[in-house]
Amino acid sequence: MVSNEDLGNKLDKLKSVVREFIKLIGDDPDRPELRETPERVARMWLEELASGYGRDPDEHLKYFYVNSANYVSTNRLVAVLNIPVRSVCEHHLLPFYGYAYVVYVPSDEVFGLSKFARVVNVFARRLQLQERLTEELADYLFVKLKTKGLLVMIEAIHTCALVRGVEEPLSMVTLTTRGQLSTDSGLRDEALKIIKTGKTSRNLRLLKP
Ligand SMILES: [Zn+2]
Repeated sequence: MVSNEDLGNKLDKLKSVVREFIKLIGDDPDRPELRETPERVARMWLEELASGYGRDPDEHLKYFYVNSANYVSTNRLVAVLNIPVRSVCEHHLLPFYGYAYVVYVPSDEVFGLSKFARVVNVFARRLQLQERLTEELADYLFVKLKTKGLLVMIEAIHTCALVRGVEEPLSMVTLTTRGQLSTDSGLRDEALKIIKTGKTSRNLRLLKP
């Protein structure tokens, strides 16, 4: 965690960078409507969009509990669905957002889950690639859940594709597996079926034409 003094220093520096940025793209940071923008943008980055830096996902482990609304359990698998993902693409510094789905083979250890969203945030609130985010989550959860098999899927809309380039809201799906969910195709099919029936893409659809 960063100290208040550190945060204050960073905030001041970032504010002047944002001011300079506004100037360089051709606007006037001193016009009244923009006067508070550098501070607002600097805070947004440090407190939200880039708040995952220097944070340890373990700090959230003890808070895991079950949120039954998004929790599915079958004989062989446990699924936590619709975990919000809010991140920033490292190529364009524009947001991508969507949902993560985690399906795993339960171990003897009883594990309550749902502060999953917080763990996802530690990894997502940094400059990211959706592919890397998926792998990082899988590596972390595979160990922490002490599971024999795990599948992580992320479906996200990339606003960099919406506002530039193809100018379409591209939805990208990334998926990775560990252990039994890599080797047992029957189990993997079951996992994908759970995701298909349980997922909501309500928020994603909002942007589609
Ligand atoms: Zn991008």
